[in-house]
Amino acid sequence: MKYVDEFRDPRLIQRAADEIRTLAASDRQFRIMEVCGGHTHAIYRFGLDTLLPSNVELIHGPGCPVCVLPMGRLDAGLSLAADHGAIFTAFGDVMRVPGRGGTPLQHKARGTDVRMVYSPLDALEIARQEPKRHVVFFAIGFETTAPSTALTIRRAQDLDVRNFSVLSNHVTILPAIKAVLDSPDMRLDGFIGPGHVSTVIGSRPYEFIARYYRKPVVVTGFEPLDLLQGIAMLLRQMREGRVTVENQYARVVADDGNAAALRALDEVFELRTFFEWRGLGFISQSALKIRERYATWDAERRFNVPAIEVTDPVAAQCGEVLKGALKPHQCKLFGRECTPERPVGALMVSSEGACAAYFGRAARQGAAASLAAAGASR
Ligand code: SF4
Repeated sequence: MKYVDEFRDPRLIQRAADEIRTLAASDRQFRIMEVCGGHTHAIYRFGLDTLLPSNVELIHGPGCPVCVLPMGRLDAGLSLAADHGAIFTAFGDVMRVPGRGGTPLQHKARGTDVRMVYSPLDALEIARQEPKRHVVFFAIGFETTAPSTALTIRRAQDLDVRNFSVLSNHVTILPAIKAVLDSPDMRLDGFIGPGHVSTVIGSRPYEFIARYYRKPVVVTGFEPLDLLQGIAMLLRQMREGRVTVENQYARVVADDGNAAALRALDEVFELRTFFEWRGLGFISQSALKIRERYATWDAERRFNVPAIEVTDPVAAQCGEVLKGALKPHQCKLFGRECTPERPVGALMVSSEGACAAYFGRAARQGAAASLAAAGASR
């Protein structure tokens, strides 16, 4: 398949891994953050970390939307169903996120009308089919998914569907990267720039990272060869003493992004003064709220959405893992109290969460080791 096979070609992958080893050949350590949860998932799915020399360390960043969602926002969204009889709709990866009163799926099992949708348009369609009920779409995600929410709100206005609203939890990637860079315990040498978000915002907005923080950025795709090429491009910049933003994913990402998507975002959303990120705390100008002119479709304006603050269990170290200060397996709960079947933190829920990705790899290695042991004993 075009754009897949050539990016999974073992010979090209081996060549890229060799190039990385050559570029990294030195005494120093290279700490590279992959911002995007999709990258974390791909790295462990394809075992790319095993191809890197020991002095190239990948740090997982805050780009998994489910992982940075504060538990209180989920509880607030579910309270709209409980208190106002609304139908709660959300993407599948929200369904297993634990809130204070359980996950949306557990609420559903107790009788709350919770429905999984594949797009906000599905939620709008439910509202059209059930005009006597109110339908809330619980919107999460970065600039990648926010345009589809914006277009759905515009469609609701065009069709005059008034029994539909959106609880916006959309966040923006740049303030999160800045929060990581400003964190005093963080030492990074460069960034694998997010691929999905950049299809919307482009590669140009990352220039402040190179200019003011003096860290190179390479916007990178999601196939094995993409990621290895992205790492090689970062190492080459460091070796040559250059600090700039490069775009490995040029087949998808334009420097200035997607103009139509950016227009839709700007028309429907504005920045909130503050928003809470799970594990990162309150970050200014980091999230999107619906503009006044679309108030009819804004759940926060239509309902009294409670501000619920929920702290993670003391032993959970999701914040440190989100900021890249700890590896997932260094959390005290990893693999014991916290597993994909019984997640304590959201990083264990989504396949893009660093803890779930680590756990999946460890499980695969365990299965491989068991198979090898069984084979040896035969
Ligand atoms: S193992 Fe669980 S509690 Fe620990 S950081 Fe990961 S998700 Fe959070």
